[in-house]
Amino acid sequence: AQEKEKASNVAKIKVVVRKRPLNKKELTKNEEDIITIESRLNSLTVHETKLKVDLTEYMEKHEFVFDAVLNEEVSNDEVYHETVEPIVPIIFQRTKATCFAYGQTGSGKTYTMKPLPLKASRDILRLMLHTYRNQGFQLFVSFFEIYGGKLFDLLNDRKKLCMREDGKQQVCIVGLQEFRVFDVETIKDLIERGSATRSTGTTGANEESSRSHAILQLVIKRSADGSESKPARVVGKLSFIDLAGSAEINKSLLALKECIRALDNDQGHIPFRGSKLTEVLRDSFVGNSRTVMISCISPNAGSCEHTLNTLRYADRVK
Ligand code: ADP
Ligand code: MG
Repeated sequence: AQEKEKASNVAKIKVVVRKRPLNKKELTKNEEDIITIESRLNSLTVHETKLKVDLTEYMEKHEFVFDAVLNEEVSNDEVYHETVEPIVPIIFQRTKATCFAYGQTGSGKTYTMKPLPLKASRDILRLMLHTYRNQGFQLFVSFFEIYGGKLFDLLNDRKKLCMREDGKQQVCIVGLQEFRVFDVETIKDLIERGSATRSTGTTGANEESSRSHAILQLVIKRSADGSESKPARVVGKLSFIDLAGSAEINKSLLALKECIRALDNDQGHIPFRGSKLTEVLRDSFVGNSRTVMISCISPNAGSCEHTLNTLRYADRVK
């Protein structure tokens, strides 16, 4: 009962904002940092410069409050502590969780997301070794990509995959390779292999990968009696999404937002069909689920409009 209590204490949807520091280029151009943060109050203010009709400048302040607001000095370890760490224990208790970052190109999505799966798997393995020792939990890793509405296995030479629903609202990706893992090193190798397999068309790696969503899943399984001889079934799942960066993102983000809002309001109908991404993640949104969204923002004046868009999106989800 105590464990259940703990699980329900973790918010269903957590919206975290992370601001990156000004980079060299922005500093060279003497660009202004227009974001001020009050971490203790979880609040953030965007100082927008606007022009009057007579072309004189004036300031408009936009204040936002989120579940957590992380300033430019916050480390990746602290980001993990604030976002994924609290949900790791509850995926042993029949919870499916999703973590994704979004924001304009260059705002720090990859920088933020990349270390999270490894930190999470380190903690998962630690829990399996200590807290849940000899209870028969097994950890699996899979890694796939959504590109042009189709699914490809990043741990199996980009083999094309199909999705099926089993009637119990479980999503099954037919043929998806799942690797059972026992140590962090193996997971690191798998992540590196999968990342290298992401679409790199003739137009250049960055441009192509910015059109694909990459989904890395850490899956906890266990057989009915915890023995190795019986078939293991999914207990919980932690999905990390590296969202596409270009036009595709708008459709998917919109669909994600609609699903998250519908779930939070306990609406009967949840619009999963809005995008391939939400269809694939369907079973991670129904039932006992958790979502962590990390909004990444750039601090410079030149990004003001993008930053306000990102924050307004986040504001509507929370
Ligand atoms: P995105 O994936 O959103 O396009 P990146 O994660 O690639 O952006 O970040 C753009 C650049 O900024 C990279 O060189 C990255 O190392 C740097 N960067 C991003 N966030 C931070 C941060 N919090 N601290 C230091 N450097 C950062
Ligand atoms: Mg990126």
